[in-house]
This record gives sequence, structure tokens and C-alpha cells, in this order.
Amino acid sequence: MEDIYCFAGNPLDRVSERRRDKEWIGSLLADPQSRMLPLYDLKPAVQDMESPALEWQPLDGWRDRIAAGATCIFLGVADNGQAHFAIDATGAESSSNANADNVDVRALAPLVSAGEAAILAEARSLIDWHARHGFCAQCGTPTNVSSAGWTRRCPNCRASHYPRSDPVTIMLVVRGERALLGRNKRRPGRRFSCLAGFMEPGETPEEAVRREVREESGIRVGRVKYLAAQPWPFPSTLMMGFLAEGISEEITVDPEEIAEARWFEREEIREMVTRAAAGQDDPEQVSIPQPLAIAHHLCRRWSNRLDEI
Ligand SMILES: [Zn+2]
Repeated sequence: MEDIYCFAGNPLDRVSERRRDKEWIGSLLADPQSRMLPLYDLKPAVQDMESPALEWQPLDGWRDRIAAGATCIFLGVADNGQAHFAIDATGAESSSNANADNVDVRALAPLVSAGEAAILAEARSLIDWHARHGFCAQCGTPTNVSSAGWTRRCPNCRASHYPRSDPVTIMLVVRGERALLGRNKRRPGRRFSCLAGFMEPGETPEEAVRREVREESGIRVGRVKYLAAQPWPFPSTLMMGFLAEGISEEITVDPEEIAEARWFEREEIREMVTRAAAGQDDPEQVSIPQPLAIAHHLCRRWSNRLDEI
């Protein structure tokens, strides 16, 4: 079985074949067992930061808002048969409990259960997509939500628009006992990470890996091996993780994007993995991302000899 990283492993059955069945969705919306995840400016409410969990609410409090046309999404059905929905609650009273805080998804995800983090990724990506895609890309007419939040349809030209994921390749380039990490210009401090970049139209993932590594570091890549993927809901990216065989030595960074790139010994990376996993983040020390990010796991797996290229 493959490894599951943060935001993957959604426990809900999305029942995608029945989303267009309005009667069935209507019965779930009327079911007192069903529950709602409100997102306020893309942030869920959390009652107790001591033991954080998503604040699911009964649907009853949200009926007026649904009737008024707020974006409401059918997320799926849990093993116990309970239907789960999310709603764009931006502007609504934050919570019945005045102590609830709205917490950024990135900060919250490592604190809640893996299943809740994955549901949160689904809800955040979809609500954000609707908020930014109100008009038909073909004719400019305002579009309507349909299929329980999984489509927008144009009443004018009848085009259907679907929520999308943007594929990104992220790779640890390995050359013998060393691997290549880069430090992004936008990130202050001494945080290094795997190189990464969006796939372009007309490209395979392997081709994107070779192009991005060449662009950002000047290193040529031979073999490419897929390891694992991770949904990344900021706003809606699919991070696809690879090991890549570096077949040249000399680094020439792209100064637009990368402040610095260099080869690290396997042992150095293993130590950085251990520190990051323990939550140690000393800005004076060279570091890699925490386990929230798939980059951490690419480094962990290779430096611990769980995977080789
Ligand atoms: Zn249209």
C-alpha cells in the first residue's frame, strides 16, 4: 500500500455517480444526521485549540443561507452513512460558540486527524474554486452551481466548467550519495527544499521533472521515478513527488526563482529530516520543510534508504 501524506486519504465516499441526482441530494440536505462544515474566508471554525477538531454543524442553521444561493458542496458520505457538506460561510456569524476561532488550513491540518485534514482539503479547494470562477470562460455570462457543487453551468452557451487540480512535479534530484536541494528566493532564512514546478500543457510528468530541474539548477536529469502524491489545497494543486537521477554536476541556479542550490550528503539530509520531524526550526540552521509537505517525505524516504533511484 502507498504512503498517505497530509491532505490525502479522504475517508468519505464522494458518490460521484449520484451528484446530479437532485432528489437524492435534497434528501441528504433534509436528513437531520447530515452535517455541515462552514468555511469563513476559507477557514474552518475550531472550538478548542487544546484538542483541535473541525467544527461540524447541523444543517438546520444553514438552510436560509443555502436558499439564498451560498455555495454549498456535497463532500461525500462517511462509513456510517452520514452525509457531509461544506458551505461558503464568508460574512456569516462565525459560530454559535463565541470561543471558536477560525484557523488557517495550513496551520490546522497537522493538528486534526488525517481524515479531517483530507476532507478540509477537498472543501477548501472547491469553495475557493467557486469563489474565483463565477463567470463562463467561454462567453462571460455568470454561471450557476450544479451537480451538488461539482460543476458550474453557463445558462447562455450551455458550457460546463469543472473544478480543476493543477499538477506540480516536486523532485529530489539524487547523484550517488548526495541530493540536490534549493532555497527559494521568496523564502527568508535557511530553509531548503526539493525543486518543484507546474507541469505545462503537452508535457508528461517525467518531462516536467527534467525541464524544471534544468531550468532551476542547470542539472541534467536521466531516470525519473514516481514515489507518491499529495493534494495541496492552496488553492488546488496536486503535488506529484519523484526521485530524479542527476547526470551532471555543476549547478547554475535560475536567479529569478532560486537564491541558492547545492548538493547535500545523504547523512546531512537525514539529520535535517529528524530535526524537521521534531518541529525544530532554527532560522540560523539549514533546514527542510516539516512533515506537512511531501518534500519532507521525499527527503525522508531517500535519506533513510527506503527508496533509491
Ligand atoms: Zn457561456
